[in-house]
This record gives sequence, C-alpha cells and structure tokens, in this order.
Amino acid sequence: MSSTEKTANVAIVGAGLVGALNAIYFAKRGWKVDLFELRKDMRLPEVKANQRGKSINLALSERGLSALRNSGLDLDQLILEAAVPLRARMVHIGKEGRQMSQAYGKKDQHINAVDRARLNEELLDIADKLDNITIYFEHNLLQTNMDKGELIFTVGSEKKTYQSDLIVGADGAYSRTRAQLMRRIRMDYAQEYIDTAYCELTMPPIKNAGGEDDFALDPNHLHIWPRHTFMLIALPNPDKTFTCTLFMPFSMFENIDSDSKVMDFFREHFNDSIPLIGEKRLLQEYSSNPRGALISIKCKPYHYKDKAMIIGDAAHAMVPFYGQGMNCGFQDIQVLHETLDKHNVGAELSADGKVSGLQKALDEYSIERSKDAHAICDLAMYNHYEMQSAVTSPLYLARKRLEGT
Ligand code: FAD
Repeated sequence: MSSTEKTANVAIVGAGLVGALNAIYFAKRGWKVDLFELRKDMRLPEVKANQRGKSINLALSERGLSALRNSGLDLDQLILEAAVPLRARMVHIGKEGRQMSQAYGKKDQHINAVDRARLNEELLDIADKLDNITIYFEHNLLQTNMDKGELIFTVGSEKKTYQSDLIVGADGAYSRTRAQLMRRIRMDYAQEYIDTAYCELTMPPIKNAGGEDDFALDPNHLHIWPRHTFMLIALPNPDKTFTCTLFMPFSMFENIDSDSKVMDFFREHFNDSIPLIGEKRLLQEYSSNPRGALISIKCKPYHYKDKAMIIGDAAHAMVPFYGQGMNCGFQDIQVLHETLDKHNVGAELSADGKVSGLQKALDEYSIERSKDAHAICDLAMYNHYEMQSAVTSPLYLARKRLEGT
C-alpha cells in the first residue's frame, strides 16, 4: 500500500456467530473492523450466569466447519475440541420407546453437537486478539445513511455515530440493517412463521458403574421422538447433559397448562424420557422455560451498491429442522470472501474513496448466494416433515435399507 492509500473499514452489526466470524475474515483480509453488538459482552461472569438464548447447543456440519477451517486460524480444530460427534439419529418409537439408529452417512461421516455460547465466546476471544478489530458492546443500531457510510447507534441514553466504507448487517432474523436496506433497494422479501413453538428441557447426567457422570442416552446420536404434529429431540453436551427441545403447535403448549396435563402428555408420548429428565425438573422447566417462535425468511438482493449488505440470519432465517442456519451463515462468509478474492478486492481505498472490485463482487455474491440460501430454507422446511413423520414411514425405512445406511 502506498503512503497516500488508506485502509478500508467495515462496520459489522451483530457479534453473534456470523458477525464474529465475519469480523475475523475481514480482519485477515487487512480491513479495519468495527464490530457492534446490541447485548452486553456475553463473556462477563454476570452475563454468563443469566444466559438463556436461542438454543443451547447446535449441530455443526461440514458446511460450517469448512468456513471455520478456511479462516486460516485452525478455528475448526478449536471448536471440535469440545464437540460431541453425532454419527446417526436415534428414533424413539412408540410408547415403550423402542430405539432405531439411522446413520447420517458413511462410517466416518458425522455432524457435531457444539455449545452455542462457547462457540460465540471463542470467536469473540479470537476477534479481541486481532489488532484491527474493535468490538463495541451495548450498541443498538438505530439507523444508517448507507450512501454516506454512516451508522447511528443508541448507547445507553446517548446516540453515537460511526463511519464505515462498508456496512454489513449480521444482526439476525429481525435485522434492522435489512429494514434499512429495504428503504434503499427493491428488495423481494417473504417471511413465514410456522405454527410450531419450541421449549428446551435439560436431561442431566446419570452415574455410571464407577460412580462418574455419564450420558443418559447414547451420546453419538441425535435423539428424536417423532410424533407427527409434534416431536422431542435431544442433543448431547460435553458436560454429559442432553438439551432436549420440544417442538409443538402453540395451541398444544397453551392447552397443556397444568402439572397433571404435562405428565399425562409425556407418559402418553415420551414415556422413556421421563425418568431420564426427572419428573420434578420436567415440570419446573416446562412451566418456566420460554417458548420460541420459528420464522423462515427469504429475500434478495442482499446488498446496496458497494455500501451495505446483509449476511447470516439477517439474509435468510430458516426453521431449525435441517440444522443448517448457522452452518449456512458460516458458509455465506466463506463464499463472500472467495468472491472478494475472485475480484481481487484488497484492503486499500483509492483516491475516490472506493475499494476496487467491491461492487462487482457484491453484485455476484448477492445473485449466486441468494439462490443457494433459498434452496436451504426450503430443505429446512421439508425436514420439519421428515423429522416429525417421515423417519418412521415404511417407505422411508425401505429407502434407507436400499441406501445401506
Ligand atoms: P444471530 O445469532 O441472531 O445473531 C445476531 C446478533 O446481532 C445478536 O448477537 C444480536 O444481539 C445482534 N443484534 C440484533 N439486532 C441488533 C442491533 N439493532 N444492533 C446491534 N446488534 C444487534 N443452526 C445450525 O446450523 N445448526 C443447528 O443445530 C441449529 N439449531 C437451532 C435450533 C433452534 C431452536 C434455533 C432457533 C436455531 C437453530 N439454528 C441452528 C440456527 C442458528 O441459531 C442461526 O442460524 C444462527 O444463530 C444465525 O447466526 P447470526 O449471527 O446470523 O444471527
């Protein structure tokens, strides 16, 4: 870079999983990065103690791992250190809970159960260590002036304004950056809530023969109790607990509103899970844990000139049944940076304040990536049906036998 050239800077809104990883990628590209997050720093002890987010654990697949690997910082290895491999799903059939294992792929193929908070914290720790990233917590994006590269945040009772050459919205499904982008471009936008809510429950460890904590179920499986219009799933955590998620229509949650109704319902449909979760814990968590809504969002294009773009859930929220929301967001980052490479986008601002190749790269990324993201949103919706029902149908089982998995 010559002495007259300046370094480009990117403002990333949202330090969730996608925003934090994208900050690392831009920093490695040589850009100056400002990463803004609405919430308090999740690593602070007082915040950790009260954490209750979207889902406690997540399935990390090759799609996401590849993006972690390609960061060039061995992030895949770091995250896999505390992951539990899931080689198959275990379907719990009928009242007696007969278990049937269905492999996800060939012998050595598996997905990984990871702790959402740990993953986010590790990414923030790495971002903190890079000199060209500054993280601002408790900054709530209020509005932007995309042509001027201006972002206005509410910070406590104040308003603060920041400048950037590129604004990237990684601010999740209810993205304010997307709302601002919609005022600038003719964005096609569709959203759909499904009539299913989710509630998380904890399955604690059991004591093994040696008196040590052990998993209550086979840890190398994603466990499913498919019951057609509702289902229970369970993913293992490194601390030997399972996080169970009950997916069910809102009206059923509303109707099952007393301890006796909860127990009748679980005895009827998930009887084998009761001793594993424990009756007291089940009743306490069912009544106090939040019910989350599930939304699917498709939109395009994802950008405004070379000024602003959206990524991750801000661009394509999907229902969680394919376990690909975060994975797809991580892949967005890899594809984005491959496209920037293809157009030789460096970190230098030219005399007219532009980054050479950036507009072309964003035009291409937006078109190509939106096609893939829409397809994954559709697959996620289809997998809702597959997990709740199809995994027990005779046709499905026959196909699995033919595939030899
Ligand atoms: P988010 O995680 O939503 O992060 C957005 C960030 O932006 C947040 O930190 C938020 O505080 C911040 N923010 C929002 N507004 C502002 C603002 N105005 N100013 C500043 N900051 C702001 N995906 C998988 O790949 N595998 C799974 O197994 C899986 N399981 C799931 C289970 C459930 C029940 C759910 C609901 C989702 C699941 N997902 C899964 C999807 C995954 O959670 C999301 O795709 C992922 O969290 C998206 O990351 P993100 O960084 O784009 O958005």
